[in-house]
Amino acid sequence: MPPLSAGRKYSNSPYLLLALLALGAKARAAESSPLPAASAPRGVETPPLAEGRPLLTLQPAAAKPGDPVVVAVRGMAELPSGTLGGRPLRFFPWGEGFMAITGLPVELGAGTAAVKVLGPAAPGAAPVELTGTLSVLEPGYPERELKVSGKYVEPPPGVKARMAADRRAFAAAFAQPFAAPLFGQNFAWPRQDRITAPYGDRRTFNGKLSSQHFGVDIDGDPGTPVTAANDGTVVMTRDNYSAGKTVIVHHGAGLYTTYFHLSRITVKKGTRVKQGQRLGLVGSTGRVTGPHLHWGVKADDLWVDGEVLLRLDFFPSAAPGVASGSTELGAP
Ligand SMILES: [Zn+2]
Repeated sequence: MPPLSAGRKYSNSPYLLLALLALGAKARAAESSPLPAASAPRGVETPPLAEGRPLLTLQPAAAKPGDPVVVAVRGMAELPSGTLGGRPLRFFPWGEGFMAITGLPVELGAGTAAVKVLGPAAPGAAPVELTGTLSVLEPGYPERELKVSGKYVEPPPGVKARMAADRRAFAAAFAQPFAAPLFGQNFAWPRQDRITAPYGDRRTFNGKLSSQHFGVDIDGDPGTPVTAANDGTVVMTRDNYSAGKTVIVHHGAGLYTTYFHLSRITVKKGTRVKQGQRLGLVGSTGRVTGPHLHWGVKADDLWVDGEVLLRLDFFPSAAPGVASGSTELGAP
């Protein structure tokens, strides 16, 4: 695995922003404009934005199933509505426009996902529809055959009630009211070490496909610190049967990060934490074979790839890059 790079702000993210201009209510700008190649130069020169013209940007410009996706809109006078791949988007005011954070369901096939955003360009004006197409890449998640003793496949009957209580606790933690983002910078690694299992690994236990890995496993010696990936509020501190000692941080905007298998939890539920603040210590609590941090990310009720979250730029300093090769840009 490539070395981790904690603390990078990704202001020079290789992820190209795809921008699409609305050409009136009937515009279907994206359908004829191919996505720029991933190797397109960084910092694409962008023509100045026409005043008041709605603009839609997607991050990343092409995504795999299981990736988080940021949909940003500028030039709309009121909170827009919209969908990605048919799933409703929850917009909130952000910078000079609006943003929604969602993800691509991990079971989605490769192809495309349609983005539609509807809102008025001026107060009281008729809504304008912005449309785009997100390329959905083949994820190529590896399959791992694990041969383990029966106790790891089937929980003992006595723990079923405990697991049901765990599920209820997770559901309550993830049921926070939708709120504006609580974070003031891009996300960072919760600890800097080797990745022992990426997001998306498909696991077969004793020849039977049984689960997919919905987090990033990060190596660590027991007792080394685990820190908050970004600012937020602690909404779970609990010892769960499978996840072990667990901290969940709510970041607003439908985003949560989860920290499993800790040996010790050093924050209290309800505490506001800052990025880099210690949440606990690496351990091997729960159903694991050795000490590590399982770091999970939930966006819009979907478990998504934390490595991709780290590359998203929520604070672009300049106007978003406009897709090069788009023929519509010059048209009035
Ligand atoms: Zn894991």
